[in-house]
Parts: sequence; C-alpha cells; structure tokens
Amino acid sequence: MSSIQTVGIVGAGTMGNGIAQACAVSGIRVVMVDIAQAAVDKGLATIAGSLDRLIKKDKLDAEGKARALSLIQGSTQYEDLKGAQLVIEAATENEALKVKILQQLDGLLAPEVIVATNTSSISITKLAATTQRADRFIGMHFFNPVPMMALVEIIRGLQTSDATHDTVKALAETLGKTPITVKNSPGFVVNRILVPMINEAFFVLAEGLATPEEIDEGMKLGCNHPIGPLALADMVGLDVCLAVMNVYFEEFNDSKYRPCPLLKEMVAAGWLGRKTGRGVYTY
Ligand code: NAD
Repeated sequence: MSSIQTVGIVGAGTMGNGIAQACAVSGIRVVMVDIAQAAVDKGLATIAGSLDRLIKKDKLDAEGKARALSLIQGSTQYEDLKGAQLVIEAATENEALKVKILQQLDGLLAPEVIVATNTSSISITKLAATTQRADRFIGMHFFNPVPMMALVEIIRGLQTSDATHDTVKALAETLGKTPITVKNSPGFVVNRILVPMINEAFFVLAEGLATPEEIDEGMKLGCNHPIGPLALADMVGLDVCLAVMNVYFEEFNDSKYRPCPLLKEMVAAGWLGRKTGRGVYTY
C-alpha cells in the first residue's frame, strides 16, 4: 500500500491527464496543473471521455466515474500542488522548461516531498542535480496510453535514495502497474531496445531486403509483436525516432547508434508518418 494520498501533476497533456486518471481510478487524490485553463479543461475532458470508454467496456460504472472525477482538481496555480506528497512532472519535453519547473517546485514544496519526472529522454541524474532534493528526485516513465499500458519504468538517478525508490515503486503498484527499476541511462530500457530496432528496420528496407509490408509481417509473425517496426515508426513519428537515435549516437559516442540514412532522408522530405499523412506508408 502506498503512503501517497495526494499526487500533484504538472502538465495536463497526453501523459499528464493519463497519469491523473490512473491515480484517481485507484482512489488517489490528484491536483493537475497546466499553464493555461484551456489545457486544463482539455485534460479533464479527455479523462471524462476515457472513463466513458471504460464504462462501455464494463470496466467501470457511473459511480466509479463520478468518484474518480471528484478526486481530480484541475488548476493553473502551482500553489495548489502544496498538499501533495509526490509531484509528477509531465510537461513538454524540453530540458530548459523542465529545469525551470523543478526550480519552481523546489521553492514551493516541503523538503520531504518527492518529485518525479515522466521525461522520455532527459538524464534523471542531470535533472536531479538542478534541484534542492536530488535524493528525493526520480524518473517515473509511464507509457502511452497510460490507463491501458501496464508498465512503468522507475529510473534511479545516481543520487536517488532507496526510500524514494521504494515509495514510488509502491505507488506504481497501487496504480495497478508493473514497475521495473532501471539505472539512469539514455532511453532507459524499453526505448533503448525499441528505437534501434526500428532504425534497423529502416536499414533492412534501404538495403532492399524485403518490402515494408514483408518486414512488418516478419516481425509480427516471427516475434509476436502486435505491430511491425515500420508501421510503429509511422505512429511514433519518423522525426521522433531520428531525434532519439541522434541522442544515443551522441551520448554513447558509439557508431552502432548511427541513424539510418533513409530515415534521415524521409524526415528531410517531411514524411514523418501518420501525422503528415505519409511515412513508410501512405495514410
Ligand atoms: P503534451 O504536449 O501532450 O503535454 C504537455 C503539457 O505540458 C501541455 O498541456 C502544456 O501546456 C504543458 N506545459 C508546458 N509548460 C508547462 C509549465 N510550465 N507548467 C505546466 N504545464 C506546462 O506532451 P506529452 O506527450 O504529455 O509529454 C509529456 C512528457 O511525457 C514529456 O516529458 C514526454 O517526453 C513524456 N512522455 C511522453 C510519452 C508519449 O507517448 N506522449 C510517453 C512517455 C513519456
């Protein structure tokens, strides 16, 4: 059982509202803060819609929905985070912005409050070093869509204390998630394996070894993956895949992470995947 009764969330976007929903459905009070009221309203509406879908699937009843919504307070005021025992930062992926937010939180929150970040790519150790609570700082990497995805990567920075780790692990379990504990390193565990696999699929495509359909079919039927790597690249965004490979290439100084030239070429063409109507496939 987690000792956390109230969770603060910074950012009401895709991940922030998903985390808020997961907490509220598990009976944890949530304060979800964003910069603009419109973003808060959109986050709350997304949660209501998502809870309705759970009702349709018989996974929740109307009472459960009302109870979950009653536990979520949306706000544009950081001061409202003061009652939380743990704050999860899930704002836009931008290092300077996150450092600014963490400084704001340091000035506001009691010393014992744990701060977690949902960053996908920024070093937990480096972010921790910018705070006054490096031992009470940790990565809590949820997967999209949060209400559906079972995994949480818990990333220990070099400075993270055992007590902080244990509290956050217990919270993840209270949310019905399965946590894995990971040492800080670029891409953590899942994306470190996943994105180079996608990159390799582009090499295979560029070498003309098989068609996109055959490559995807091969990985679906041969490895039991629910979706092929090229179709997945189109979903994630080719630009995002390229940016992640560039981070690994630079951070590890290892040529095994070089982005595939075909991936670079397609990004240069603006073929970014589903979001632009064309990637490996046409939509
Ligand atoms: P998003 O763009 O959907 O939402 C980000 C929200 O942060 C926006 O509503 C924005 O208004 C808000 N924001 C910006 N500055 C703020 C500030 N100063 N204070 C409060 N709120 C602020 O982004 P997202 O996809 O939810 O990503 C959030 C974080 O989660 C990022 O660090 C990202 O790397 C990480 N992440 C994303 C995914 C994914 O699949 N989308 C998966 C795992 C982790």
